[in-house]
Amino acid sequence: MTNPERRAEEAVTLEVKNFINGEYRTSSTGKLFDNIYPCTGERNSTVHEASQEDVHAAVQAARDALSGPWGRMTDAERGEILHKVADGIDARFEEFLAAECRDTGKPYNIASHIDIPRGAANFRVFADAVKNMSTEAFQMATPDGKGAFNVAVRKPKGVIAVISPWNLPLLLMTWKVGPALACGNTVVVKPSEETPTTTTLLGEVMNEAGVPPGVFNVVNGFGPDSAGAFLTEHPGVDAITFTGETRTGEIITQTAAKGLRDVSMECGGKNPALVFADCDMDKAIEGTLRSVFANCGQVCLGTERVYVERSIFEEFVQRLAEAAGNYKLGLPEDKSTDMGPLVSHEHQQKVLSYYRLAEEEGASIVLGGGVPDMPEALAGGAWVEPTIWTGLADDARVVKEEIFGPCCHIRPFDTEEEAIALANDTPYGLAAAVWTENMSRALRVSPQIDCGICWVNSWFLRDLRTAFGGAKESGMGREGGEHSLEFYTELQNVCIKI
Ligand code: NAD
Repeated sequence: MTNPERRAEEAVTLEVKNFINGEYRTSSTGKLFDNIYPCTGERNSTVHEASQEDVHAAVQAARDALSGPWGRMTDAERGEILHKVADGIDARFEEFLAAECRDTGKPYNIASHIDIPRGAANFRVFADAVKNMSTEAFQMATPDGKGAFNVAVRKPKGVIAVISPWNLPLLLMTWKVGPALACGNTVVVKPSEETPTTTTLLGEVMNEAGVPPGVFNVVNGFGPDSAGAFLTEHPGVDAITFTGETRTGEIITQTAAKGLRDVSMECGGKNPALVFADCDMDKAIEGTLRSVFANCGQVCLGTERVYVERSIFEEFVQRLAEAAGNYKLGLPEDKSTDMGPLVSHEHQQKVLSYYRLAEEEGASIVLGGGVPDMPEALAGGAWVEPTIWTGLADDARVVKEEIFGPCCHIRPFDTEEEAIALANDTPYGLAAAVWTENMSRALRVSPQIDCGICWVNSWFLRDLRTAFGGAKESGMGREGGEHSLEFYTELQNVCIKI
């Protein structure tokens, strides 16, 4: 066994503790829970559930660190340390990769291209972005004729609570921790109970990079009556940034109202793809295949509703089903694996309930619809088949509700106006994909879709400097580039009378 392989093995068999004030701590109540490998149902590790006392210690450490060396550093000094954090992730790439894939079951070929490199990039991008962030200055007239100057000073918000989901654990957590730290804040992170390992492992990297104790803290546990609620309810938290389900986002927003704490909400979606007859069919098939089935459909930006112009409907359905039907389900480390399992048995039950509901609601099953036959060693895993339906009514629950699995419903349309109306017929508004080679159409259609990000002839292409967030029930606020820096800083106006 090579060194990185052995380290990777250790990373997944160790206990997962909380990381508070620069050190790993066991749960003060001794409460533990199991972290499960979704490919087989075996236990990966045991996780220390943070008590209210542990969460308080983490918030207190974060508060104290604001007035320590971290608070006195220049942006450039902090940026240098955050570059070392990114380098530290790169240096322990195999360890992060193995841990992420053991927690999620996702293929190495996805996590090694997306999750881990983007996890490191999130520190580099924001460490550099913060150096170029401007403030404002206004000169004003005063009655005595002497005038005054107003200068805006940008300050960190303070202690930021970061609540993250399980679908892209390292990537989505660092997407918030990177800019929060670059702006001089301190953080307490509550990763998903399903996927605590890479967030906790990041504590070691923080220490190695010279991040002072208390700047980055991790508390493990669940949401209600556990670490998530203890953290968001804690009065020592100045702002909360959340990624997860819309219903959870609503609860956290209510919690944040006490003390008028700021929130950033990145929530669920039921994203449409619009495929016009003037598309490049090969591109549209390849892109839709990824947007529906990547990460076993567990991507907030993924497509669950596909609308295809009637003249190419039959061909599109047949080609997408053929391509998805060739998907190989398997273990993360197998290079030929296209799709892993769902993240947990609980989520498998949720997705399978929608597979059954689709039949009850009268869907034609084009592909899948159940649990695949897996080899005996994998029979205990949370596997589901890639699934395609047609023929559902527009108000069917399967067409309306976020499923978060490897599945989509495909429906024909006749006119551009109809396609836009169908795309917008949802309470969500996260993402959309438009497939057409007619750029006038692309420019006409995309702004009419009510969503935070609309891709044309692509999907999941992200420039981290651009605004990211959801419209309608998909979120509140924007992160990305200067929008992240806006959220993680407070502007103070200093008015100087001459
Ligand atoms: P979830 O809402 O169940 O959990 C997210 C996090 O919130 C977890 O850490 C969980 O423990 C915590 N939590 C739950 N209840 C809480 C409470 N009452 N107080 C404090 N914390 C609480 O979401 P999930 O199942 O982990 O993730 C999947 C969802 O996330 C999907 O809806 C998906 O669309 C969404 N998502 C959105 C984006 C985006 O950028 N908009 C990105 C990824 C995932």
